[in-house]
Amino acid sequence: MNVFDAVKALRGVYAGLDGRDLIASVAAAYPGRTAAISSFGAEAAVLLDLVAQVDTAIPVLFIDTGELFDETQAYRVTLAQRLGLIDVRIVRPSPAELAEANELWLTDADGCCNLRKVRPFERLRTGFDVVIDGRKRIHGGKRDALQTIEAGEDGVIKVSPLATWSQERIDAAFEERSLPRHPLVAQGYRSIGCWPCTRAVRPDEPIRAGRWAGSAKTECGIHRLLIPDAVI
Ligand code: SF4
Repeated sequence: MNVFDAVKALRGVYAGLDGRDLIASVAAAYPGRTAAISSFGAEAAVLLDLVAQVDTAIPVLFIDTGELFDETQAYRVTLAQRLGLIDVRIVRPSPAELAEANELWLTDADGCCNLRKVRPFERLRTGFDVVIDGRKRIHGGKRDALQTIEAGEDGVIKVSPLATWSQERIDAAFEERSLPRHPLVAQGYRSIGCWPCTRAVRPDEPIRAGRWAGSAKTECGIHRLLIPDAVI
């Protein structure tokens, strides 16, 4: 079945689901072929807690770009232990990709993301039909119209169980589950990527305003859709 038909079929059955119920359903529909991806960023704990409630053995894919905050690396270890995640898979750019990327974020952020994120992720996701992520409509930009089940440009089924969640629901999940916060959240970081391309935001700014601030770039490139959602 191609990815369009697979997305149609899943939407036909699971369109009304979100959160843990959606994760459990797609994991059951694609056993051994379902993974989650996480940056272990500001709100990652909510998605990963739901994944762990379903099955702590679901692989969690993590891209170490070589330019992450030390706090993110430490949080990855802390959070994985706290949730009991037993299969966190880390992929890094190859030495050749790192050499080519160097400080490319200064002049060509898309090229830098391609070398440090997109290419390594393509290697890591091989073997999976479904990748679960933590994207949400409340993050704005191209995520405004996000659906819970989409067709990725890479031919993978993209599932976003928190797509329709409000900020209040996210915050409540942290409270109810006593989830640890990323250390940089206390310093005003609400969306956290690589250190050269991330800054803290003011309370009145959009959540992702601190990502590639001052440029038109809003996404790293690993979440591109194969075709416009409306076609499916
Ligand atoms: S977020 Fe910045 S440093 Fe990280 S891969 Fe993209 S351009 Fe490079």
